[in-house]
Amino acid sequence: MEKKQSKFGLAGWIFVAMLAGALVGAMCTGEAAAAFTTKYIKPFGTIYVNLLKFMVVPVVLFSIVDGVISLGDIKKVGAIGGKTMVYYMLTTALAVVVGLGVALSFKNAGLFPVLETTDLAYEAKNSNIMDVIVNIFPSNWLSPLVNADMLQTIVIALFFGTAILMTGDKGGKVGEIFNAVYAVVMQIMMIVIHITPIGVFCLMCNVVAVNGPKVLGALGMAILCAYIGYLIHVIVVYGLSAKLLAKMSPIAFFKGMAPAMITAFTTTSSAATLPLTIECCNKLGADKQVSSFVLPLGATINMDGTAIYMGVTSVFIAFCYGVDLSIAQMVTIVLTATLASIGTAGVSGAGMIMLAMVLQSVGLPVEGIALIAGVDKLFDMGRTCLNITGDATCALAVSRAQKK
Ligand code: ASP
Repeated sequence: MEKKQSKFGLAGWIFVAMLAGALVGAMCTGEAAAAFTTKYIKPFGTIYVNLLKFMVVPVVLFSIVDGVISLGDIKKVGAIGGKTMVYYMLTTALAVVVGLGVALSFKNAGLFPVLETTDLAYEAKNSNIMDVIVNIFPSNWLSPLVNADMLQTIVIALFFGTAILMTGDKGGKVGEIFNAVYAVVMQIMMIVIHITPIGVFCLMCNVVAVNGPKVLGALGMAILCAYIGYLIHVIVVYGLSAKLLAKMSPIAFFKGMAPAMITAFTTTSSAATLPLTIECCNKLGADKQVSSFVLPLGATINMDGTAIYMGVTSVFIAFCYGVDLSIAQMVTIVLTATLASIGTAGVSGAGMIMLAMVLQSVGLPVEGIALIAGVDKLFDMGRTCLNITGDATCALAVSRAQKK
């Protein structure tokens, strides 16, 4: 009896909270009620998200340093890093192809809405690939940590972990400190994780209340298109990866990941969801050394959902401006969207900013982003959910490969 109760535990409560939030939100879609949820319910969701964000830098920093140290030698770091990068790049490129494919089918079937391209509320920002690469490397020890710049934090952690391994006995002492602090950080994380149901309820309620009827509006088809892409990727790529690479039942995999997936869906931040992603993966049997290295990296650079979104929205924006994409342009989209998704920070709405880079690469007007900006949150919920699920499949697949 007691066991059953603890099994329902957190995952069950998170699920119930999401449904309850959606239900209450659906009852609050009137203007005044929606404003009420924004004013009085959303702030509690914001507190939850802030607490998650508060944990991100220490979790990433200490888990990667600890992960690298616990691997024991540099060769092993290289082997796991290599496998992880190959997996991340391949699945992301595949995701863009899925996004393009579904969107082209929608377009050819005449399912995309015809929109006025006049509401240009979004302010276009320029970004290019070289900037993304240069920005990976920190010029200061503290500012990446203070500004929660995740790519730079990862570089710092990799330097530290590797140098500790290379410094022998003296380094070992520093390693012990990192290991002990990591244990404490994980403990704080567990406390924060336990308020997830409250956070999920508040965030879900507000999203449904504010976006409710609008979902059915003009952009509904574009959103539906993205979600079909997400679903195909989840079932085909993640299902197969769980089955063939991680050697586990896909159902068990998705069930085990549900708490993290729901949290990603409602917080729209892979970085904020990281603590739960680690927790779920470890419970599913991932090697702790692998997950503490692969997951923080994935939360920062592996964004399959964002890649699908970029594929779908590129075709959609091209359609709205009456542009027919050539094969060469589509290949360019696959390449830039893969890189852009790597450069996308694991925070809410970051993918939409990086979309500018993809549109520019094929000469589409960056102002097109204004068309989808109003409902980006709805795209973001699904894409973040995929982003963290992709990281988890990699952690489990690499754990399995390492065991061999
Ligand atoms: N919100 C996404 C994430 O955190 C990034 C994005 O906007 O695409 O994974």
